[in-house]
Amino acid sequence: MIFKKPKMQRTITITKETRDGILTYCKMNHPNEGILILRGKSNKGNVVVDGLVIPPFSHHGPTFAGFPHSFLPFDPSYVGTVHSHPIGSARPSVTDLHNFFGFVTMIVKSPYENEDIFAYDRDGNNLPITIVSKNYDKNL
Ligand SMILES: [Zn+2]
Repeated sequence: MIFKKPKMQRTITITKETRDGILTYCKMNHPNEGILILRGKSNKGNVVVDGLVIPPFSHHGPTFAGFPHSFLPFDPSYVGTVHSHPIGSARPSVTDLHNFFGFVTMIVKSPYENEDIFAYDRDGNNLPITIVSKNYDKNL
């Protein structure tokens, strides 16, 4: 992977309310993993997340949280997923990258505080997250 083609770096923008909702959901599910669908929009590699959806067929366990993607209704406002890592680092696992959905995967590690949330692209590259206030979207 030394001669990687240069490509556009995605940026992830998330509203403070959505970020707080993710952290609360992860805390509620602890010590199991929790998973949520991220709603928002993607524009030229920049993803704005401003909502959350609880997956219809999610199952929770201590080691893996997931849902069968083939059962997900196609919805262009689904931009990715977020799930928690109750134990260990916030690095995406092989399974996580295998189950990549949408444009971004976010991972929250315990204890699920503001600085415990990370975003990755399809290749597992860390993406910068910008937190904005609720009215951000209306100013676009
Ligand atoms: Zn994971």
